[in-house]
Amino acid sequence: MARVPLSHPAYQHSSDHHQLAINPVFTCEPVHIPRNHLPPAQLDPDVAYQVVHDELMLDGNARLNLATFVTTWMEPQATRLMTECSDKNMIDKDEYPRTAELELRCVRMLAQLWHAPPAPDATGCSTTGSSEACMLAGLALKRRWQHARKAAGKPLDRPNIVMGVNVQVCWEKFANYWDVEPRLIPMDGECFHLSPAQAVAHCDENTIGVVAVLGSTFDGSYEPVAEICAALDQLQANNGLDVPVHVDGASGAMIAPFCDPDLIWDFRLPRVASINTSGHKYGLVYPGVGWVVWRDASALPEDLVFRVNYLGGNMPTFALNFSRPGAQVIAQYYNFLRLGFQGYQRVQHTCRDVATTLADKIDKLGPFRLLTRGDELPVFAVTLHEHVTSYSVFDISAALREHGWLVPAYTFPEHRTDLAVLRIVIRNGFTHDLADQLLTDLRNELPRLSHQPHPQRSTESSSFSHGASPSRHPK
Ligand SMILES: *Cc1c(COP(=O)(O)O)cnc(C)c1O
Repeated sequence: MARVPLSHPAYQHSSDHHQLAINPVFTCEPVHIPRNHLPPAQLDPDVAYQVVHDELMLDGNARLNLATFVTTWMEPQATRLMTECSDKNMIDKDEYPRTAELELRCVRMLAQLWHAPPAPDATGCSTTGSSEACMLAGLALKRRWQHARKAAGKPLDRPNIVMGVNVQVCWEKFANYWDVEPRLIPMDGECFHLSPAQAVAHCDENTIGVVAVLGSTFDGSYEPVAEICAALDQLQANNGLDVPVHVDGASGAMIAPFCDPDLIWDFRLPRVASINTSGHKYGLVYPGVGWVVWRDASALPEDLVFRVNYLGGNMPTFALNFSRPGAQVIAQYYNFLRLGFQGYQRVQHTCRDVATTLADKIDKLGPFRLLTRGDELPVFAVTLHEHVTSYSVFDISAALREHGWLVPAYTFPEHRTDLAVLRIVIRNGFTHDLADQLLTDLRNELPRLSHQPHPQRSTESSSFSHGASPSRHPK
């Protein structure tokens, strides 16, 4: 984890790296606060506040962070609600029945938004994010496969899951933690995500499911969910294998319903068993909430669901965590009420408009080759034309950082490690004006960069590889 050696420059400003350096204005008497062990005595709350507050001053400006998909701004009213609810524990369904009810309403709204077949009630839940949601969806796929194999008297010991190499790291975690063989399909030429033919070619009787990503984190492109499902329909017609699909819509499940209503990617496809999204990405909530919805109750094996006592009734739960904050779920409900379909549509359309406009303008600068244009997720990846030999995308990333912009540069995975890109994620609050400012800063840096004898950096700067966007796994 983030274990920084004490010789690290971050510690050099302090004469004694075992003590925090405290501004003398904060206290009347000198205080000594140990850096790495529990202080022996108390501090005044205002002093403690200032010390922590000041230490965080050097974190980047979240709103200029074009590396992250995660919400960096909410309205004051949402923030107020979250502060009011920060004491509520999501698991205490009997103590906070209204919070539990708001969670259910959000699940119903998402099930409807994603066209789940009409049912007495939606099947799904909130989570801490898409990672937990994907774990739950993957577990449901695995358990369904196990039940079917057991019923058929066939071995259960070698489950596999099929996905593109561009999947987010949570899917490799899922495979590792739950002993499922990950079948990661490499990138192929200029195709940077899963293709239907490749997906089918990797399926066999031990395949618990195929993961289709609606919105690859590498380049913002949508995977062809309908085509993948059609290819799997054909597989079933040919040899009887019935392989379900999970759609990882961490970003796209909150973009496509509003911006691409005619794109068929969701429960309208009978093969789609479950869908997840990150409430804290294009759901527009601060970090800490995700969602997973199953097409119907039969897609979630009953033996994975625990029953907790709820005001004399039974409350089903399926989760990895027990205690967990309720505030993010409440904030999600607030956003759903506050924005409605049209509000989300305006917000997401604006993001896409900013993304496509900025991508076009960057294209016209000359040195850049766009891999995507921001017209699926409001996210695009650009590389440099081959004739650009005096600087690298890593140099550009570093130059933009001097202006305060966090734009990650990274190389693609196996088979395309030759390809180094910059990726720009447009989120709510990143306006055309800010995009123009970014473009101006980028344009102004190019003459200096083109006078370099050769690229100064050929890999990620440490700040990106440790945080915002490690090479193998942009978030
Ligand atoms: C961000 C992301 C995840 C992980 O989501 P968290 O909410 O950060 O846990 C999974 N899959 C995709 C496609 C993502 O973009």
